Amino acid sequence: MLLFLLAAEGFVRTVEGKTTLLVPKSSLTDKVPSKTPAFFNPAAKQNRDLSVLAYKAYAPSLPSKTFADSLGGVGSRAIRVAAEAPEIEQVYCNDINATAIQAAREAAQINSVTERCYFSVNEACRFLLKGTQEEERFGIVDLDPFGTPARHIDCVLRAVIDGGLVSITATDTAVLCGIYPEVCMRRYYGRPLNNSYGNETAIRLLTSLLALTASRLELAIRPIFVHAAMHYLRVYATLAVSSSGANDVYNNIGYVMHCFKCGHRIKTMEYDGTRKCDLCSASMSVGGQLWTGALHDRNFVGRMLEQDPDRQSKKLLDAAAEERSDIPYYFRADEISARMKTNPHSVQRIIDKLRAAGFAASRASLNPGAFKTDARLDQILQTLK
Ligand SMILES: [Zn+2]
Repeated sequence: MLLFLLAAEGFVRTVEGKTTLLVPKSSLTDKVPSKTPAFFNPAAKQNRDLSVLAYKAYAPSLPSKTFADSLGGVGSRAIRVAAEAPEIEQVYCNDINATAIQAAREAAQINSVTERCYFSVNEACRFLLKGTQEEERFGIVDLDPFGTPARHIDCVLRAVIDGGLVSITATDTAVLCGIYPEVCMRRYYGRPLNNSYGNETAIRLLTSLLALTASRLELAIRPIFVHAAMHYLRVYATLAVSSSGANDVYNNIGYVMHCFKCGHRIKTMEYDGTRKCDLCSASMSVGGQLWTGALHDRNFVGRMLEQDPDRQSKKLLDAAAEERSDIPYYFRADEISARMKTNPHSVQRIIDKLRAAGFAASRASLNPGAFKTDARLDQILQTLK
C-alpha cells in the first residue's frame, strides 16, 4: 500500500512517545486543531501517554488482550497502543471519518504494527455493538468524543468483556464544572458545583453516570484511575458482569454539600435540599448525585508507575498513589490562606501539620495546589493558626 496521505493531502509525520503518527500539518500549528480533514490534538499528549501506561499496567489482568478505540481519529491513541504496548494483541481503530482512518492505516505501516491492527469506518455505537457474543467483545474500550460521552456510554459498556476496562474522556468541562447546570443535570443526572474543587465534582458526576448506566445493564464498574486537565476529564474503570455488584451501586452514590458563604463542605449519602451549614447556618448547595467512593486503586496506580512514566506523568501518578481519593472534595491552599488572611502555606506544610494534629491528609491529584483531609474547615484553620 502506498503512503498516499503523506504525499497528497497535507499530512505530516510527528513523533509522540515512541510512535510516529500521521497528522494534518495544520493541527501542529493551529491554536484550536480543525476537525477537517481529520482531528488531531497535540495538547492531549499526556492524556495518551497515561493511556499507554494504564493499558500496559492492566494487560496482565485482561481476559482478552484486545483494545478498541471507538472514536479513533488518526489513530493517535490506537497506533500508540499498538506500537508501545506489545502486551495488547489486537488493536481496533474505528472512526466515522475515512480520511482519518486512512492516516491511521498508514501510521500502522510506518510503525510496522499492521498485523495487529484492524481498521473500520463506522459510527461509534454501530462499531461497538457489531459483536453481540461474549467472544466478540473487547478487553479495553476507549471513548474520547468531542464534548460529552453521555450518548455513547451504553454502547461502550455493552462492548466490553467481563473483567475488562473502559477509559472515557469528557471534554464538556464547562457543563460538568458548573457553568450550565441544567445541561449537566440532563446529561449526568446530577448537579455540578462551580467552586474551588469543581473538577473533582465533575469527575465524580461522570463516574456516577458510568456506574448508574452499568447497573442498569446488570454490570458493576469500579474506577481505578482518573485525571483531569483544563479541557478534559478522564476515568478508567474496570467492569464486571454482576447483578449483585449492580445492586450495590448506591453504596457509592451520594452528594457533596457545599456552603458558598464560609466554604464548609461535607459528603452525605442522603439528599437533603434544606440542609444548613454546621459552621455558619447558611443554606448549603447540593452537588450530585455523584460517585462518593474511591477514584484511584493504589495497586493499579503503582503498576502504572512501574511502566516508566515521564517526569510529568510520574508526578501526577505519585499524587494519585498517595491520595485519599475516598474523600470526595479537596481544599486549595490559596483558599485556606485567603480565609486566614496570611501568606500562602505550601501544600506539603499543611499536610504535615494536619497529620501531626492527628488528621488524615494527602495531596489531591486533580489539583497540585490542593490537599485532602478528613478535618473540617474550622479544624484546618485552627490547626494552621
Ligand atoms: Zn457555612
